[in-house]
Amino acid sequence: MSRTIWIQAHQLGRDNSALAEIIRPTGPVPPAQVLMIESEEQSRLRPYHRRKLILLFSAMRHFAEELRKRKIPVDYYGLLPDGSHPHRSFREALRLHLQKFSPAEMTMMELPELSGAREASMLAREFGIPLRTTRNTNVLTDRTAFAAGYSERQRLPMEKHYSSLRRQFRLLMDENTPAGGRWSFTPGRQTPPQDRPVPRPLSFLPDSMTSEVIRTVDALFPDHPGTGTGFDLPVTHAQAIALLDDFIAYRLPRFGTSAETMVAGEPLLYHSFLAPFLNIGLLAPLHLLKKVEHAYHTGAAPLSSVEIFVRQILGWREYLYGIYHTFMPGYRTLNTLEAHAGLPAFFRDGNTDCACLADAITQAIRTGYLHHGYRSTIIGNFATLAGIRPLELFDWFMALFLDAWEWVTLPNVIGMGTYADGGCVTTAPSVSGGRAINRISDYCARCRYRASTTTGDAACPFNTLYWDFLERNRTKLSLPRGKLAAPYRRLRTMNTGERRALHQTTKKLLLRLFR
Ligand code: SF4
Repeated sequence: MSRTIWIQAHQLGRDNSALAEIIRPTGPVPPAQVLMIESEEQSRLRPYHRRKLILLFSAMRHFAEELRKRKIPVDYYGLLPDGSHPHRSFREALRLHLQKFSPAEMTMMELPELSGAREASMLAREFGIPLRTTRNTNVLTDRTAFAAGYSERQRLPMEKHYSSLRRQFRLLMDENTPAGGRWSFTPGRQTPPQDRPVPRPLSFLPDSMTSEVIRTVDALFPDHPGTGTGFDLPVTHAQAIALLDDFIAYRLPRFGTSAETMVAGEPLLYHSFLAPFLNIGLLAPLHLLKKVEHAYHTGAAPLSSVEIFVRQILGWREYLYGIYHTFMPGYRTLNTLEAHAGLPAFFRDGNTDCACLADAITQAIRTGYLHHGYRSTIIGNFATLAGIRPLELFDWFMALFLDAWEWVTLPNVIGMGTYADGGCVTTAPSVSGGRAINRISDYCARCRYRASTTTGDAACPFNTLYWDFLERNRTKLSLPRGKLAAPYRRLRTMNTGERRALHQTTKKLLLRLFR
């Protein structure tokens, strides 16, 4: 009797642990076939950006081809542009597969998100086939050990998890001490760089397989945002590694000095644009990190840039994976600051007078991507200040962003972005007004609002909402720590006239935002 290895769209790593059992067997193995399914039903759960669907389906098809070349049989259920494919869902494709092969068992690499894992077990039960899971090799963290560590100490800070992974994987270490004598480096002065244009990431011409996927996605999902026209993303391991090498050579050296910076017309600046490919397995986390570390050892990039980048992957990415698995399923419904406003209509088209928000949202709709600075300082910041329901923001990210998967996007939004988890991830909400945005971007100079003003018609909405946020959440943030201590002292000393002007401006602004 044969067995089936089910590989989903975000499990395309060559080190997929379920696949490794047949590629590098440790003993005799029964015949096996790989199952891969493009699910129309899954693709319609949200209005997913078309570039994301194209990336996933094309990367799946290329990986299937690679496996076949290695003599591994693949039973592939693809979508067809005229809609004539014989399956709509995982369930229908799985039924066809089981009829064809009657495997004795099914193996899959542990899915990183609970909803997917639940669905796979439910289907296996429904069809009466034993399902065995293997370790998720798309992350380096052991989720069970993380959860145990977290509950023992009540709170396991990101820094602690990060330093223990640095030791475990010998990354940026001089013997037993961190390279350069400290675990983390502070980003350099974050001002928009003057020398432009910044080197753009590599782009890749679609081959015939990708072109077919583009035709299919454009035909089947015409109402989803984005378009297949101009699709130029990597869809194979080799292409993703070329993108990584390109980042290391041309943008990593300056990454540390502009990690938070935002410049109109330079959507990526010195950022890597690797997460979409890392999160589906086209890049392997440890391989990526070792390559970046090598740039430090060879003098190709300064330690500060390398460490700040490594912290994003080995620190934050791994930490959020642990947080997700420690606190789910309840984590999803947390809303500590009781934020209940809906997303303003301009999140659908970028049509707002705020220059920073307009550009960020338009970019996200056009490309399916924003670098970290936009996500935290513009989008997450605005949503927190305006009291947007965290799950609405989560859905917005999930639909639009190429790198969005529940396990990483949920803690990013509920924890880092909006403080809806009340402090599991960060110790205080990460909020700021227009002056902070003005310091690290060039948007305010071209905006109809004034970053230095808090009240009146020209007031920057971020400023007005900032003070309103502090006042609104005074009791919930009753022991403000760190950077919120000074603003709360200032709030206490505001005179009656200042408060009245602030209330009037806020009232008018909210009417405009949520009309
Ligand atoms: Fe954004 Fe305010 Fe600056 Fe306008 S003035 S770009 S709204 S921060």
